[in-house]
Amino acid sequence: MRTLLILLDGLGDRPSEILENKTPLEYAKTPHLDTFAKKSTTGMITPFRNGIPLGTETAHFLLWGYNLSDFPGRGVIEALGEDLEINTNSIYLRASFGFISKSEKGYFVLDRRTKNIFKKEINELIDSLPKKIGNYTFNLVYSYDVHCILEITNLYGEISDKISDSDPFYREKHVLKVKPLNGFENKKELFSEETAKVLNEYLLKCSLILENHVVNKERKENGLALANFLLTKWAGRYRKLEPFHEKWGIKGAVIAKSSVFKGLSKLIGMDYFEEGNFKDAFLKGIELKNYDFIHIHTKEPDEAAHTKNPISKVNTLEKIDLDLEKINELTEDLVIVTSDHSTPSVGTLIHSGEEIPVAIYKKNILPDEVYEFNEKSCYRGHLRINSENLMPLILNYMGLSNISGTRFGNKLLKYVPDNNKTDHLK
Ligand SMILES: [Zn+2]
Repeated sequence: MRTLLILLDGLGDRPSEILENKTPLEYAKTPHLDTFAKKSTTGMITPFRNGIPLGTETAHFLLWGYNLSDFPGRGVIEALGEDLEINTNSIYLRASFGFISKSEKGYFVLDRRTKNIFKKEINELIDSLPKKIGNYTFNLVYSYDVHCILEITNLYGEISDKISDSDPFYREKHVLKVKPLNGFENKKELFSEETAKVLNEYLLKCSLILENHVVNKERKENGLALANFLLTKWAGRYRKLEPFHEKWGIKGAVIAKSSVFKGLSKLIGMDYFEEGNFKDAFLKGIELKNYDFIHIHTKEPDEAAHTKNPISKVNTLEKIDLDLEKINELTEDLVIVTSDHSTPSVGTLIHSGEEIPVAIYKKNILPDEVYEFNEKSCYRGHLRINSENLMPLILNYMGLSNISGTRFGNKLLKYVPDNNKTDHLK
């Protein structure tokens, strides 16, 4: 039996007047998902803890059964996703060209992403920036739009990814000073102070060069937004993690479209298939026969919700329901429909920390009395789980879970190992 996990990113939402006090999923006509919910065990998943919103990358890390304490930072995931050669003496950050205005209070962010700028201009700016400060080297690699990956290396490994962001993320804010993050018992992480200091120095040096660069001078003359600051976030450092197939005893694939999913897949040893069209991703998932676990992802509900237009999310969900037309024909697989987090199409939050609906189907599963797939209906369903419970539940439904505490080999396995993969006494 295979598992098809259909992940509708940012699915959960809140009611709004414009939708007659219903959520977009409640309001949308989704006959295929409703039929699916009717024959499934349903309920709610808490992505992490009640009320704590997550980003896609950490939400997926948890859903696939990993601990947040092992999360290496999104920067290194993005770097993996963009096929950078990963160096263990380096940290990786997202660095984006933004438009700031300087005052005695600091650098006020007018726009976190400089608009209407050519790749050629960005590359000229990148070439002009410093490559070395003290024992640290800086390698700024262009990604897309105004975004780059910043790799900072210390030959002796005297560097830390436990540093804060300079990108203030929200509107009407100043660029933040990069600070060392405090670890256990409020102790400074090793080398985080030095790393924060050198990054602040680098950002100020870059700012001076960018402000006086011919590219920006010409843009200023033409009344265009400047690319006069590098905003950094998501510092990460590579760490080796237990591969997905060793952790869960099943071979996994991810069908998605973004460098984050490519990077996450590489990090935990799942095969990645790039597919931007959700219907094609779903049909590809149905055809992939050499995997036990297939994660089929669409970012569409999240993107629709970020426009803060509930009707746009309704339209997206109705389109997704049509894309999933064949979902009720999948009778031989374990099929799950859920999400990673809520993205409210109303209010000011970017993501929110509510539970999200889930429906799990397999032949002979015990259905509950839920007949529609949405937040309100699934509240009446049977399941109340955290993300971290999903993988054990999947193994359980697939008939692969091991009796807790049974000892095969030198670690406790959550699954019954293949006879050929255990050491035999001879
Ligand atoms: Zn989002």
